[in-house]
Amino acid sequence: MKNRSCCPPENKTENQDGYETVRIAQAQNNCRLCDDYAERQKAKPVAVLCCEGACLRGEVARQAANLLCHTLAPEKTARICLGGAFTKDTGQRDLVRTAPRVLALEGCHVNCASRMMQGVLAGLTPEVIAVDRLYDFDRSRFGIEEMSPEEIQAHARTVAQQLAATL
Ligand code: SF4
Repeated sequence: MKNRSCCPPENKTENQDGYETVRIAQAQNNCRLCDDYAERQKAKPVAVLCCEGACLRGEVARQAANLLCHTLAPEKTARICLGGAFTKDTGQRDLVRTAPRVLALEGCHVNCASRMMQGVLAGLTPEVIAVDRLYDFDRSRFGIEEMSPEEIQAHARTVAQQLAATL
């Protein structure tokens, strides 16, 4: 079958049980603005996680998540801070924990966002969206600098519109 994502999955060396144990320092500081934001999002039915990666696939996913949550469907969707939700058990993680529906917009098949949150929320079953399959582009390209900002924005809009139609 033709691989439609960014690159062929490589053989991986895994711990015997297929998990990696990560030790994260507990947060010493909190962001009041972020907590207030999370409080305001609590009634929304869809929490949106997203790859926050630095390549063009991650950037398209990130912009699509922002468009979906802040422009196309702001009344239904809560944009999650992936780093905050992953590294501390406060408002952002609670949004993911309690949302009736969780979308994970993944830049590529590494599926960072969903795997990270499943690591801290046992039993979480987000709907994993392979964002790079929702738009057409030259799949040999990787870096943000390999695609114009206008093209990235256009792809992000294409993705966000498709996802908004499912809400
Ligand atoms: S995980 Fe994939 S989409 Fe995210 S930054 Fe890395 S290569 Fe890009």
